[in-house]
Amino acid sequence: MADFRFGTVGSPASTPAKPGGSVGAIQRLAELKLSALELGWVQAVRVSEATCAVIRAEAEKQDVAISVHAPYFINLNASDEEWPKSRKRLMDAAHFGHLAGATDIIFHPGSYFGASPESVLETAIPRLRECVDELRSKDNPVILRPETMGKSAMLGSLTDTLQMSREIPGILPCLDFAHLHARPGDGTVNSYVEFSQIIHDYAKELGEPALKHLHIHLSGIEYTAKGEKNHLPIQESDLQIQELFKALREAHCAGRILCESPILEEDALFMQKIYPG
Ligand SMILES: [Zn+2]
Repeated sequence: MADFRFGTVGSPASTPAKPGGSVGAIQRLAELKLSALELGWVQAVRVSEATCAVIRAEAEKQDVAISVHAPYFINLNASDEEWPKSRKRLMDAAHFGHLAGATDIIFHPGSYFGASPESVLETAIPRLRECVDELRSKDNPVILRPETMGKSAMLGSLTDTLQMSREIPGILPCLDFAHLHARPGDGTVNSYVEFSQIIHDYAKELGEPALKHLHIHLSGIEYTAKGEKNHLPIQESDLQIQELFKALREAHCAGRILCESPILEEDALFMQKIYPG
């Protein structure tokens, strides 16, 4: 078994029109010898329980590991009036995702709205803990994964995601290395030494075994001083992917690497090909 499963966030561009949808995406990934799919429920969760059962069965048949990207419109730092709507989007993604065979639910944690990370986490962490408690009370074992975000104004630094994960069992980061590189806006976080430091911090905070279940998003990225601008094909970007892969390999990391580049499956296959065996 390889260290990492590789796949795409959203359906491969080459998914044929029939059967199309998530079932078509799973079949196409299997055909390409890719083995992970993150269902892109990024606008809203609009799926029936019956459809989820079909997705789950096909994923099991084709041995494609499923995760869900929850809607963008989730904010752990929303006002008390807005929070129930954010919460419902996250919980719907977790409920239907679990029925579709997803083990991990990825979400953007929100915005600081100008407040300090510490004070925002004081609001965010109890809200998130309560979500996990409710999921477990309904026998839903999914891991909720706040994603590391590409802009410095967004909740979702490596430190933020590690703190949420350390304080709440059932929470683990989604490491988006393109975002981690774009976030400082100065071209840093793009070397073997810096990538190794991230992996070291992750293991220190969450334990060495957590390195065997990493959930990684990857693409090339364009950025300004404020951080992320847009995603790029890996080879048209400055991302030092070989350095990243060397750092992951040397720390014996495993899990999933999901491609978010504009040339989805092409770059997913490229990553799978160059990952050191
Ligand atoms: Zn994302």
